[in-house]
Amino acid sequence: LSGQETALVSQINGGLAKPTFIPPRPTTRGVRRQPTLILNVETLAHLALIARYGSDWYRELGSEREPGSRLVTLAGAIHNPGIYEIENGTPLDALFEAAGGLNDSLGSVLVGGYFGSWFTPAALENVALSNAALAQTGAGLGCAAVVALPANACVVAETVRVAIYLATETAHQCGPCVHGTAAIARALHEIGGGTAAASAYADINRWTTTLPGRGACHHPNGLAHFVASAVHNFRDQFTDHAHKGPCDDCSNHILPIPHS
Ligand code: SF4
Repeated sequence: LSGQETALVSQINGGLAKPTFIPPRPTTRGVRRQPTLILNVETLAHLALIARYGSDWYRELGSEREPGSRLVTLAGAIHNPGIYEIENGTPLDALFEAAGGLNDSLGSVLVGGYFGSWFTPAALENVALSNAALAQTGAGLGCAAVVALPANACVVAETVRVAIYLATETAHQCGPCVHGTAAIARALHEIGGGTAAASAYADINRWTTTLPGRGACHHPNGLAHFVASAVHNFRDQFTDHAHKGPCDDCSNHILPIPHS
């Protein structure tokens, strides 16, 4: 939780490490009620290099709108998974190639981590790793984690696992988030197990549409986006599970879940 900026400020001020409602943003009232600038380490590293070499140097990479480089975490069915520094706007297939290429046939790709978006292999053509390019598909880079799931991993089971994890990771202080994330995870679990009510898809659609913006932080927004992206882009797989229950690949877990 302390990674969320208002939770970090709250803890430094002697309170609980839980997000607080904004406004005020920490830039208006933060540590000891003073305006506080909070940046992640990657941004600070970029600032240090820009101070040393100048903004023109930084702008030699990337685009006018998103200049420079960024760190991307690459995992899954890749020969050399790891953290890569890429030019903003690098095509996804170029990143795969730089990492030694795929080591298995591709089933799906998650871009942006657990608040991110799912892509089918067919939809990956021309996907570039910049927020502007991804925004055209309703996606974003988020935490810049990219996971290539092999074809023998089940996108339904992986979505259910992550949704359950995220639903248990709320700060337990905003009713819509606590109850909404749990309801979505439960409905998904029932779809994955073939025991869902006929209304499950409509419920998930309604909840993932109405939940964003209903909490002190963006946790419910992230879960809603992640789930909606999976259900929208892999509807056939979800429908198969709803009718037949778990598939043979449901136990091939790829995405890391802490404490599981
Ligand atoms: S929205 Fe959810 S995770 Fe965020 S502060 Fe509220 S209960 Fe916690």
